[in-house]
Amino acid sequence: MPNPPKTSGLFAKILIANRGEVAVRIIRTCRRLGIATVVVHSEADAASLAVQMADEAVAIGPAPAAQSYLVGDRIIEACRSTGAQAVHPGFGFLSERADFARACSDAGIVFIGPNPAAIEAMGDKIASKRCAQAAGVACVPGHIGQIEDAGHAARIAAGIGYPVMLKASAGGGGKGIRVVQGEAEMAGALAAVQAEARGAFGDDRVFIEKFITEPRHIEVQVLGDKLGHVVHLFERECSIQRRNQKVIEEAPSPLLDAGVRAAMGEQATALARAVGYDSAGTVEFVVSQDKSFYFLEMNTRLQVEHPVTELITGLDLVEQMIRVAAGEPLGFGQEDLSIKGWAVESRIYAEDPYRNFLPSIGRLVRYRPPPDGAQGDLVIRNDAGVREGDEISIHYDPMIAKLAAWGPTREGVIGGMAAALERFHISGPAHNLPFLSAVMDQPRFRSGALSTAYIADEFPQGFHGLEPTPRQIDIFVAAACAMHRLQSRRNGHAATGLRQATPRQDWVIVVAGAMLAVRLADTLEGLALELRDEGRTLRLAALEWRPGQPLLAGVLDGEPFALEVAAAAEGFQLRHRAARARVLVLTPVSAELHRRLPPRRAPDTSRLVLSPMPGLVVAVEAIAGQEVKAGETLCIVEAMKMQNIIRAERDGLLAEVAVKIGDSVSADEILARFA
Ligand code: ADP
Ligand code: ADP
Ligand code: MG
Repeated sequence: MPNPPKTSGLFAKILIANRGEVAVRIIRTCRRLGIATVVVHSEADAASLAVQMADEAVAIGPAPAAQSYLVGDRIIEACRSTGAQAVHPGFGFLSERADFARACSDAGIVFIGPNPAAIEAMGDKIASKRCAQAAGVACVPGHIGQIEDAGHAARIAAGIGYPVMLKASAGGGGKGIRVVQGEAEMAGALAAVQAEARGAFGDDRVFIEKFITEPRHIEVQVLGDKLGHVVHLFERECSIQRRNQKVIEEAPSPLLDAGVRAAMGEQATALARAVGYDSAGTVEFVVSQDKSFYFLEMNTRLQVEHPVTELITGLDLVEQMIRVAAGEPLGFGQEDLSIKGWAVESRIYAEDPYRNFLPSIGRLVRYRPPPDGAQGDLVIRNDAGVREGDEISIHYDPMIAKLAAWGPTREGVIGGMAAALERFHISGPAHNLPFLSAVMDQPRFRSGALSTAYIADEFPQGFHGLEPTPRQIDIFVAAACAMHRLQSRRNGHAATGLRQATPRQDWVIVVAGAMLAVRLADTLEGLALELRDEGRTLRLAALEWRPGQPLLAGVLDGEPFALEVAAAAEGFQLRHRAARARVLVLTPVSAELHRRLPPRRAPDTSRLVLSPMPGLVVAVEAIAGQEVKAGETLCIVEAMKMQNIIRAERDGLLAEVAVKIGDSVSADEILARFA
């Protein structure tokens, strides 16, 4: 921002009705603007980073959101008791509740978000589509109205043509959505969506639209003020999704050209004008590969992925929301805005990518984000609400952090993101860093050929990491040798109190099914590794590592790298990006023995039913002594808003059911045993 912000006339104190990463994000902007902050918190968050950073904190109830973050009255009471003049709701929780926005204004408190009528108009998918249609916005072909029963649904679907999508009108967060391929599936799918919508939103109205095949999710950021000005801040592409939820986002979209971008921007602002929109909001579109675009819904709040827009426009969206809420006019028009460079964001979730992205929980034993700020022509930004030692609990969203990168070109920023992900280290809960790295390294992602089916297309059997490339095998060999040398040198010191005269030079490295003879030599910069069978030499320099550290960094043959390391018997367990390997460092004699050993066999777990994730047992539907058929439900384990139905994988007699309702189980804990 070229000029120091003008802050007179803005609020003196703002209350943040949220937690975690977004609470911290809002506090940062308030601090820069010289606005005092109050954060409300549940019992689970009493010692959180947001509470530590805010000027004041107010406890509002127990951990479950329904008893704390969703209780509007307590939040308004906290504004009164602290003298906060305005509330920023962040995203999720109360951010899209028109009744809360209204209650704030009734209490004389400014809601930092759109006016309640705009929230209401866009809060319901059926109503918002009617509104969009009236404003001349392209909508997905379908039936903009409530479905009465399966017969009604089948008649409409036949008219639209399969595949179709059933959607809960009150839906959000990827819930209450199902694709229906043909009439035979309709009755079952309708019942399932209605049940899910009733459970999650207390509203079972469902509508139908055409399912756009291989679509992209592209959304337009809009911004309005209370004087009727509306601009758009270009688009974000969020096609990399799992379970209809975003994982990687970027701005601009690699698909759009200037004409389509302008057309989407015009329709998005037309809709915003039509509902008197007066804050930051997002108009979501589903876009087919031929660039036809159709309105999906409008999110009347700050969006999780707003950093990519901030990075390409240089604007602070939270600051803009605060300014327009205070009644200031927008300080710029559409013609003042342009796209600078490219930005990508990776959502780092506590979930296990190797187990179908099941949510994970636990203490962040280690949490080491990469260095942020400007680095050459790259910018790295990490938005997080956690510190090392904090707990990822089952009560809230499983996002740990959002890592964003900016660079002048798409290719450059993807490379920058991949390098920053390498230097991110998390231990404790399972996390998706290896998965994010895999996508950054995939030629298809790099080419920009995206679709919401990307993850299903690229990982049809689930994610199991990527095979190491030849360069990654070189990295594994160099890292293992360097660590082994440092460790044995240290052990040598400890044993004799003397510096070892000449370290052994010849080793055999076992990695990725190969045995490599390596001769080591110290050099001025670090280590030279002669690969004796291949007749080439690797040069390792600038090694950063001490025994016990989980991350090793260095420069191999002129290229920087970092990888995750852990000690294992006779060697190391290593991960570079999406490739994992167990690497052994052996003397030539023990390598000879190793060659003659029979391969190790994994223990037989075929009779066991193991919990795929940590969580709470909420139902047990089988008993010991029962004959079960493959596919029958044995029990249900719940964590992080997600229920996981554990089914029998084969027919058989159950010898034991090891859990009961209310038990907490860890990942891989035995739930049941076949005879
Ligand atoms: P975005 O498009 O910004 O990614 P999401 O749909 O992922 O939005 O939701 C943003 C946040 O709001 C997430 O923390 C999500 O868990 C929460 N959220 C979204 N919809 C709902 C809902 N209907 N009920 C509860 N939380 C929701
Ligand atoms: P939510 O409120 O849960 O965010 P959306 O209507 O925005 O629901 O849809 C979520 C995701 O589902 C979209 O990002 C897109 O990937 C997919 N989707 C929604 N509608 C369609 C459609 N008609 N055709 C294809 N994919 C769709
Ligand atoms: Mg959506």
